[in-house]
Amino acid sequence: MSQRFALAGLAALLATTAVAEEVNVYSYRQPELIKPLTDEFTAETGITVNVAYLDKGMVERLTAEGDRSPADVVLTVDISRLAAVVNAGVTQPVTSEVMAANVPEQYRDPEGHWWGLTTRARIVYASKDRVDPSEITTYEDLASEKWKGRICTRSGTHAYNVALTSAVIEHLGEEGAKTWLQGIKDNLARKPQGNDRAQVKAIWSGECDIAIGNTYYMGKMLEDTEEQEWANSVNVLFPEFEAGGTHVNISGVAMVKSAPHPENALKFMEFLTSPTAQQIYAKANYEYPIAPGTPADPLVEGWGEFTADPTNLMTLAGHRPDALRITEEIDFDN
Ligand code: FE
Repeated sequence: MSQRFALAGLAALLATTAVAEEVNVYSYRQPELIKPLTDEFTAETGITVNVAYLDKGMVERLTAEGDRSPADVVLTVDISRLAAVVNAGVTQPVTSEVMAANVPEQYRDPEGHWWGLTTRARIVYASKDRVDPSEITTYEDLASEKWKGRICTRSGTHAYNVALTSAVIEHLGEEGAKTWLQGIKDNLARKPQGNDRAQVKAIWSGECDIAIGNTYYMGKMLEDTEEQEWANSVNVLFPEFEAGGTHVNISGVAMVKSAPHPENALKFMEFLTSPTAQQIYAKANYEYPIAPGTPADPLVEGWGEFTADPTNLMTLAGHRPDALRITEEIDFDN
């Protein structure tokens, strides 16, 4: 009898002093994007979120840590980085009706190893003074003669451009993509250099008329007193592939294979894919929420509507080696 009471007492003690509920995250994304989300999640669930912010070496770290890794969840951006984590064998498939309802099929791994959270489109920044918006039509057209000496872009081997070239391979085949990329190279105003914002600056200063860049940089530039002027010199225009659709990339999440807190990890992932969390996350970096029917920030919506290329991003990840090889074969950056 007394032993039963003792056991009951012990159980109660364990319940009240139970190790604080937590979930551990490795993030390539910056604290200002993640903090509002983790605060909201902790407020809703009482689960503490510990985040290690990394700027490189996530795959190497997870591989080295193996089953002893403290990480439950990884947050990153770009399909190539998501695919790299998955291909290293350090993630586990996740099935969730909640997540499946919030994340359209094209933005998640068919096997559930990664899930998209927000999208960004890779679009054209065009001079307000020198380019009529109606002149920007298709990605294919960017390789045509009329743009000779007028295009600026960052390195062809940067992940953002490799993903775009991968999409071109999907639409035009490898030979078609090589011809396209050579056409872009022939149209460049200068050697590929700098980041996406540097291309908008080059439009502002008159070096080129159009540039390839990600949508959210428009919002980032408008936040900055110096860059505002660059942003105000351009229009955001959405090219499509001839077969339809604007190229988009994603930020996403995956569960680590050895996750020590898999239940909390799933709760956190389900929270992240909820329309409310997507809106917080998207707004922080001027991206688009992935959940169907969830509006972006009014500033972002103001750049215009577009239809995304419906290709599954895993398909693009599959074209990545060929895209990189083509880029090197035509010596795009030189
Ligand atoms: Fe970026």
